[in-house]
Amino acid sequence: MTDKKRKFWGWGSVGEGFSDADMRPYEAEYAGIFGVDGFTVDPFPRSEEIDLAAPRLAVPKSLEAVLSADHWERLVHTFGRAFHEQVRIMARDFRNAPDLVAFPRHEQDVIDVLDWCTRVKAAAIPFGGGSSVVGGVHPDVGEGYAGAVSIDLRRMNKVLEVDHTSRAARIQAGTYGPELEDQLRPHKLTFRHYPQSFQYSTLGGWLATRSGGHFATLYTHIDDLVESMRVVTPAGVHDSFRLPGSGAGPSPDRMFLGSEGALGIITEAWVRLQDRPTFRANRTVEFKDYFAGARAVRAISQAGLYPANIRLLNHDEVKYSGTASGEAAILVLGFEGADHPLEPWMARALECCSDHGGVVSAEGDEGAGDPRAGAAGRWRNAFIMGGYLREAMVARGLITETFETAITWDKFEAFYPAMIETVANATRAATGRAGIVSCRFTHVYPDGPAPYFTFRGLGTRGRLSEQYDIIKNAAADLLIDWRATITHHHAVGRDHRPWYDRQRSPVFAKALTAAKRALDPAGILNPGVLLDPAR
Ligand SMILES: Cc1cc2nc3c(=O)[nH]c(=O)nc-3n(C[C@H](O)[C@H](O)[C@H](O)COP(=O)(O)OP(=O)(O)OC[C@H]3O[C@@H](n4cnc5c(N)ncnc54)[C@H](O)[C@@H]3O)c2cc1C
Repeated sequence: MTDKKRKFWGWGSVGEGFSDADMRPYEAEYAGIFGVDGFTVDPFPRSEEIDLAAPRLAVPKSLEAVLSADHWERLVHTFGRAFHEQVRIMARDFRNAPDLVAFPRHEQDVIDVLDWCTRVKAAAIPFGGGSSVVGGVHPDVGEGYAGAVSIDLRRMNKVLEVDHTSRAARIQAGTYGPELEDQLRPHKLTFRHYPQSFQYSTLGGWLATRSGGHFATLYTHIDDLVESMRVVTPAGVHDSFRLPGSGAGPSPDRMFLGSEGALGIITEAWVRLQDRPTFRANRTVEFKDYFAGARAVRAISQAGLYPANIRLLNHDEVKYSGTASGEAAILVLGFEGADHPLEPWMARALECCSDHGGVVSAEGDEGAGDPRAGAAGRWRNAFIMGGYLREAMVARGLITETFETAITWDKFEAFYPAMIETVANATRAATGRAGIVSCRFTHVYPDGPAPYFTFRGLGTRGRLSEQYDIIKNAAADLLIDWRATITHHHAVGRDHRPWYDRQRSPVFAKALTAAKRALDPAGILNPGVLLDPAR
């Protein structure tokens, strides 16, 4: 990963993404949907077009090998991948660029950089792959700091130890998804944590945001895959025992999981691994009625079958992801394992589907075979390429964003139409015309699903962020009104703060503030994330 030059204007590395020719089918589709003739395309910024203010911080001699004021790197570290960040990129608005970027080589460098930031009163913003979609890495830290330093862990990218007996590995936090799996492959082991951002996100970022990965049931969040962690804080280093389980008081690791760089910098973790799966069973099942599909999903999850994949796409998600025509909702169902054939589990899951009117898709009868074929394969391709689409859409003046939540089954069938209607109304109010809102389940629990919504609308250049805010704020308000979570796995960042503040109890906010004060007395770590800046 370190040998690729990251884009500062979009997803991935230089040379990757949709070309104008690739975008033509999308342009034709959206022109039809929004009733326009076509789209003009704004050019992506070039680095030499952007003037950055001179760094406010001077690099000390002792950290010359670690800190950089390189123009390109400052651009790369200004934004994550949220919609409004993309709009600011296109407006060439890099006013909050970090003054410096740190590339620590080992834990002692992390300690030294944090000590120096504390001394000079600089904000310190941990940076993994920069794939945050909630403003988690953007150095908008207010006036109270002498400057801002983005701390990128990409040089700490090794699998340090593998314990075959316990099936676990000790891995540095800056390891990107592909690097991590490449280093485990010779050991015939796998972490199997595949967020959609897998290629350009890191172990440390996953832990810091409690990311949701490949497993749609059982091991949904990364939390359950962690044995122990090391975290550097300005007050010292947290180091936990490696344990398969523990009842010794509140879990210290759980305090740092999801701390989003506000309590410390995770430098490494022992994580639980899997044997590489050799048995698979995959099907796609069609449901005329979305709620019938949801009831089948509930039955499967309450039967203790634990499929690795149980993604229920509503009709519009099927249609606009190019999976199929959209006449039916589709359930992408998959079991995997390394120990025993899984067809009996699939057979029982298909009984649950047929109890609710589900029909195995003729095209999708892939048996034990390939989840890359048929409708499931088309959905998978759209999923993998999804990261690149946003920058191309914004360049055409289109609004596109996703948000996700979790809610208990008893509320789901009333909540879902309320959310679809709210987003549809807000899109019309914001843009003056109808948009698209679609939904899929990313993860499923016996007591409720994690629905993931995508909305798209025709924006007005110069007003894209304002229009987006109208839609996103309406959705976020509704989530909290229903006591659904503001995020199932995308994290809080700077963007979800107002709703996170309403979701957590005042008592918990007090406890978190006290923890922050104890670990980061100068308030330098990721100011504005989870808590207000201390200064
Ligand atoms: C196309 C796309 C698809 C996505 N799909 C998923 C998905 O399927 N599941 C999911 O959960 N999320 C998804 N996300 C969101 C994002 O990828 C996750 O939040 C991911 O965990 C962030 O990892 P990262 O390494 O990029 O961290 P960054 O974006 O660099 O950082 C995220 C947050 O963690 C902090 N941080 C980073 N590294 C450390 C560290 N070592 N110690 C302490 N704090 C740290 C940062 O300060 C920031 O607050 C997606 C994003 C995109 C753009």
